[in-house]
Amino acid sequence: VILAVAIDTPLRRLFDYLPPLHADPRSLRPGQRLWVPFGRRRVIGVLMQLRERSELSPDKLRRALAPVDEEPALDATLLEILDWAAEYYHHPIGDVVAAALPTALRTGAPLEAPRRVWRLTEEGRAAESGLPARAARMRAALQYLKEHAEAAGPELLASGATGAVLKNLQQRGFIEQHELARESIPSVAVRPGPSLNPAQAAAVEAVRDGLGTFRSLLLYGVTGSGKTEVYLHAIATVLARGAQALVLVPEIALTPQLIARFGDRFDAPPAVLHSGLSDGERLAAWRRARSGEARIVIGTRSAVFVPLAQPGLIVVDEEHDASFKQQEGFRYSARDLAIVRAQRHGIPIVLGSATPSLETLARAQRQPETLLSLPHRAADAQPPRLTLVDLRSHAGAQGIATPVLMTMQRHLEAGNQVLLFLNRRGYAPVLFCPKCGWSAHCPRCDAHLTVHGRSQALVCHHCGAQQQAQQQCPSCEAAVKPVGQGTERIEETVRQLFPDAPLARIDRDSMRRKGELEETLARVDRKEVSILIGTQMLTKGHHFPNVTLVVVLNADQGLFSTDFRASERLAQTIVQVAGRAGRAERSGEVLIQTEYPEHALLKLLLDGGYESFASGALRERQQTSWPPFARIALVRAEAPKPIVAMRFLQAAVDAGHGLPRKGVKLLGPAPAPMERRAGRYRAQLLLHADTHGPLQKFLRSWLPRVEALPDAKRARWSIDVDPVELF
Ligand code: ADP
Ligand code: ZN
Ligand code: ZN
Repeated sequence: VILAVAIDTPLRRLFDYLPPLHADPRSLRPGQRLWVPFGRRRVIGVLMQLRERSELSPDKLRRALAPVDEEPALDATLLEILDWAAEYYHHPIGDVVAAALPTALRTGAPLEAPRRVWRLTEEGRAAESGLPARAARMRAALQYLKEHAEAAGPELLASGATGAVLKNLQQRGFIEQHELARESIPSVAVRPGPSLNPAQAAAVEAVRDGLGTFRSLLLYGVTGSGKTEVYLHAIATVLARGAQALVLVPEIALTPQLIARFGDRFDAPPAVLHSGLSDGERLAAWRRARSGEARIVIGTRSAVFVPLAQPGLIVVDEEHDASFKQQEGFRYSARDLAIVRAQRHGIPIVLGSATPSLETLARAQRQPETLLSLPHRAADAQPPRLTLVDLRSHAGAQGIATPVLMTMQRHLEAGNQVLLFLNRRGYAPVLFCPKCGWSAHCPRCDAHLTVHGRSQALVCHHCGAQQQAQQQCPSCEAAVKPVGQGTERIEETVRQLFPDAPLARIDRDSMRRKGELEETLARVDRKEVSILIGTQMLTKGHHFPNVTLVVVLNADQGLFSTDFRASERLAQTIVQVAGRAGRAERSGEVLIQTEYPEHALLKLLLDGGYESFASGALRERQQTSWPPFARIALVRAEAPKPIVAMRFLQAAVDAGHGLPRKGVKLLGPAPAPMERRAGRYRAQLLLHADTHGPLQKFLRSWLPRVEALPDAKRARWSIDVDPVELF
C-alpha cells in the first residue's frame, strides 16, 4: 500500500510514502494526520489516498513515521471538497489542505480537547494545614483548583505549577486525576423571537421544506427586512432536528452584536471563527464544531472549511461581499465553495443580501423557485428616500454642497444623527503645486501619495511607503497645497461648521486600537455622537437606528472605472450605506453627491432601486459577454525589472498554441493599469470563455507548460479563477 500525502508546499502534487513501520496500513484512513520525513525535516501531512502503486520505484520511497491521531482530522466529504477546490482554483493541494487545518494542528496539537483533568480530593480541600510552610507553588495549585473545580494538566502548568508539584500533591493524596465523559450533545433551548411577517414566514417555510436535500436559495431582502430573523428561525428548526448550522459572514460584519443576537435566541454558545483569534482559540472553536458540541458555527471566509459533525444548513450573509474571496495565495471564493459544500452534504444553503451579486441574482432568475424575497422593511419602517445633489451647480465647503449642509442642519436640530460616507481615508488624495503643476508621487508605485494628518505626512495607499510632506514645491519652491477630500479633511470641515455637534470618524486610521470600533459604535448607539464620518467600514453589519440622514459624499469614484465590476460595487455600496439609515419608526433621507447626475447607472438606481440597476447591469454584461455570461481567469505576474512580467506572459500565450481551446480566448498580455507597485512591474493576461468546462480543460493542459517556462522562475505569478478584482 502506498500513502498519498498532502504536504504544505507550493508543489501541485501529493507525495507518496510507504506506511509507517509499526502501523497496520489497513487501519489508516484518508483525512488522518501523519508525521512524515520531508527533505531533512519532519512535518505533518494529511493522508489523502491509499494507492496500489506509486510512479516512483519502491527504493526511492520513504516511509511515513507515524500517524498523529487514530482518527481522521478531516472527514471524507471535506476531503472531496478540498480536492475539488485544488482542481478548480488550480492551487497546490498541500496549501489547500493547510487552509482547512488550524495552525496548531499543523504543528502537532492533539486533535481532541484533553479529557483528563485534575480535581481536589477531600483531603485536598482541607490541606492548608498539612503543607510545608514554604510550598508556595503547591498552595497556588490547590488554590487554582479550589477556584476552578477542575483543570487540565496544561492549564495548571500554565498557571505556574510544575510536573513535580502535581506529582507531589498527588502522592500526598490532595489531588486526583479524573477522566471526563465525552460531553453529550446538549439539546438547545430556543427563546421565541418576534412573530414573522408573511414574507419572512414564507421564506422560513421554503428553507424548512428543503432540509435534508441540497438547494441553493437566495434570500433577497432590503436592509432591515428581517433576513437575520429568517436565519434564526430556520436555524431553530435545524437544531431541533439535531443538526448543526454554519453561518458565514464578512469579516467586518462579525460583531459582538451579531454574536449576542444568536446568544439571545439560542441557549448554546456558538463556535466563532475569525482572523483575530489566537491559535489556541481557533483550535478550541474548530474542535467544538468538529465534535458537534457547537450547534452553531459563525465565522468568516475560512470557516467554510471547518468540519461539522452533523451539517444541517449553511447560511452566507451579505453574499455579495468581496471579502468572501481570498485575494492572495489560495484564491478561493468562500461563497462558491459553501455552495459546493452544501451540495456534497446534501443540505440547503441560504445566500442572503440586500444587494445580491449579479452572479447569484442571474442564477436565481433562471430558477425562480429558489428566490425568496423580503420586499419590505420589518416592523413597518419606511424605506429611505434617495436624492441626487449635482456638485457642478452647488457651491460648497470642502466637498460638501450647500444644500447638503442645510439638510444636515435640519436633521441635527431635530435631534437625529447624520452619517457622512466617503470611501477615501486620509486628509487629501493629492499634494499639488498650483504654480508649476508638480504633485507628490510614490517613489515605488505609479500612484499619488495621500496626504495624512493635515499636511504632515504622505502615505502611499498601495505599498504603505511613508514620508514627511513637503511644504514647498521641490521643483519651483512655491507653497504646495492638498487637493481633494479624504475623511480627515471632512472631519475638519464639519468640526468648523458644526462646532457643537459631537462627531466620530470611523476608518482604518482612526480605529487602529483593538476594541476602539466597538467602543465608538456603542457611543453612537447611546446617542453621544451626532455626526458620523466614515469609509466602507460603516456600510456593513452595523445598524444605526437614530441616523435619519445619510450623505454619500462622492459617488463618482466608481462610475468610470475600467473594471467591469466597479459599477456593481458602487451600486451595492450606495444601497448598503443608504440602508443603515432610518430604522424603526424614523424614515431616512439619502443624499448622493455627484458631478454626473445624468449617468445611466445612477438614474436606474434612483428610479427603480437595486433591482432596476441589476437588470440594466445584467443586460450590459450579456451584451459585452462578461460574467455571469462568461467565465474568466486572470494570470498576474510581477518582477523587479520592467519587461520580465510582460515577456513571461507573452511566452505563456505562445505556450498555449496548439492546445485544444474550444472558444477560450487569451486577452493580453497587458501592463496592469497601475504598472509599478511597491517597486515591481506588473502585467496580466485574461482568459475568457463562454462556459467553465472548456476554460478548466484548457487551464489543466496549459498551466504545466506555463510553469515550465524559464521566466516562470524570474517573475512572481499567480492564477486567479473567477477573479473579483481585475487589477
Ligand atoms: P436584516 O438582517 O434584513 O438587516 P434584521 O433581521 O436585522 O434585518 O431585522 C431588522 C430589525 O427588524 C431588527 O431590529 C429586528 O429585530 C426587527 N424585526 C425583524 N423581523 C421582525 C418581525 N417579524 N417583527 C418585528 N420586528 C422584526
Ligand atoms: Zn511647483
Ligand atoms: Zn507606493
